Amino acid sequence: MTKQPVSLKGKVIKATRNKYLVRVGEKIVSSVIRGKIAGAPKWENFAVKVGDDVRIKFISGNEGVIQEILPRWSKLSRAVEGKAYKEHVIAVNIDQIVIIMSVKEPQFKSGLLDRYLVVAEKNHLKASICLNKIDLIVSNHFDEIARWYTKMDYPFYFTSAKTNQGLVDFKSILKDKVSILVGQSGVGKSSLIKKIEPDLDLKVKETSQKTRKGRHATSHVELFPLHIGGYLIDTPGVRELGLWDIYQNELKEHFVDFQPYKDLCQFADCMHLKEPGCAVKYAVDQGKIFMSRYSNYQNIYNDLRAAPYQLIKRR
Ligand code: GDP
Ligand code: ZN
Repeated sequence: MTKQPVSLKGKVIKATRNKYLVRVGEKIVSSVIRGKIAGAPKWENFAVKVGDDVRIKFISGNEGVIQEILPRWSKLSRAVEGKAYKEHVIAVNIDQIVIIMSVKEPQFKSGLLDRYLVVAEKNHLKASICLNKIDLIVSNHFDEIARWYTKMDYPFYFTSAKTNQGLVDFKSILKDKVSILVGQSGVGKSSLIKKIEPDLDLKVKETSQKTRKGRHATSHVELFPLHIGGYLIDTPGVRELGLWDIYQNELKEHFVDFQPYKDLCQFADCMHLKEPGCAVKYAVDQGKIFMSRYSNYQNIYNDLRAAPYQLIKRR
């Protein structure tokens, strides 16, 4: 008889109240926690998160005990509503956010794109952009936009789930990475995914999650293994990622294109709005920063709150 190895490395792809599904190779092992786990952050009460790389000990063929959480390299989180200092970790060890926009139906919204990019920067995640339904336009209207974002180090691809344009690029972005797919409803997320993973039906997942748990869908974060390698995180809650835990004074830090100029402003605490001697505004005038990025910055700034909710209340 061959002896089972003492412990094996795996990845948590789903977490429920007391069971964790851990993918070990091609095998899915239903795992539990018993007592202390090595590597668990103390303040999190041993919480194992979706995306965690763990070591498990088999107790039977398909059941295991989580023994150790391996070091995390990233996390996507948001503040718990009304509690400015408490965060809800959506998932950990994520490589990137893949933002899907469409040229039409629904129309391209540059403000929304920049909002997603702010979320990516806030969480220190890489971001790529796919402009889908490119088959619906004939002009090169989006080339300039693509050039600006590429210059900011956000890879920008034109795709079509209808004609398969850019599908090779889409595949190469996702391959061997843990990715979060975001984008408005109707832009073609499910259609694109279906092209590379025909068995994965995001639409079905969406409806079943909604009917079961309604608006608490974020707690049902799940990683879907891809045949090309890598994982996809997709939940309705993650897709509707808001900006409500970002505050006005920090917004400017999440605009990568402002960073080369920020130290040149007359005032060290310049918000790049109405202040005199603002190097960021000057760079916009000089055509060095994309005008629409700057106007989106102003709009987002006006939508955000000045300071954490509790700080305002306490005054
Ligand atoms: P999701 O809500 O983002 O998952 O979007 P879907 O994948 O459900 O797509 C919404 C609609 O757009 C469907 O009717 C698709 O057939 C259509 N669609 C998706 N991708 C494309 C595309 O690249 N070109 C065109 N013309 N239609 C598309
Ligand atoms: Zn400034």
